[in-house]
Amino acid sequence: MRGSMRRLARIVVLMVVVLTVASPVAARSARARALRLGLGTRAAASLLLSGHPKPAWVRAAGKGAHPRTLLFPVRGGVFGRGFGDGEDGGHLAVDISAPMRTRVRAAAGGIVGYAGDGVSGYGNLVLIVHPGGWVTLYGHNDSLLVRAGQRVSRGQPVARLGQTGIARGPHLHFELAVDGRLCDPSPLMRPLPARRNGKSAVTRPLAWLGGPVPEGLRCEPRSGKSGSKGPTRTDPADAGPAGE
Ligand SMILES: [Zn+2]
Repeated sequence: MRGSMRRLARIVVLMVVVLTVASPVAARSARARALRLGLGTRAAASLLLSGHPKPAWVRAAGKGAHPRTLLFPVRGGVFGRGFGDGEDGGHLAVDISAPMRTRVRAAAGGIVGYAGDGVSGYGNLVLIVHPGGWVTLYGHNDSLLVRAGQRVSRGQPVARLGQTGIARGPHLHFELAVDGRLCDPSPLMRPLPARRNGKSAVTRPLAWLGGPVPEGLRCEPRSGKSGSKGPTRTDPADAGPAGE
């Protein structure tokens, strides 16, 4: 009995040591990777916002093709404003509302390209580069749980939902950038986003199996329309479900 207690104590001590040593090591290696690749800067953020990640970043995001589908990033979240909503159709993103500080999860695996509050309008912002060069964006967060250079897996919490930046009410502003265009992420999301009335927001789920844009999936250039530059002051479309 005493022996097993001692063994248990030893295991607990070992776990504490591993936890206290491992997380600073992981943070250090993420920082080193970010420094080496030039991630985490505002210059990196603007390339990622434009949907043009550097080839080295895409390689660092992991081997293989782009994701076929995206994880719906807020468990229990309610789909609000969708892609192309707003008076001028300029909201090239989806908004997902949920209680403050709900976990926001990576829609697919990859590497964090930017995590900070240096891009106007988006508040606390996370940008993730995925294999194949896709970029996902998570805006208006209350707080961030990852740093630039960190590798993340699909479903890993990357932030806590909030209303920082230009946002009325707590929601996640989510964008998908592919080859310099913003694409409607909602048909790719699993589970499919549900609207406030409980009906499915999209009738036809899609998977992007490779090759060109799947038929029925909308993609638009960010600069092609007025007000499509994200949540700026001229884009009241980003008010979130509260502003619908
Ligand atoms: Zn939005």
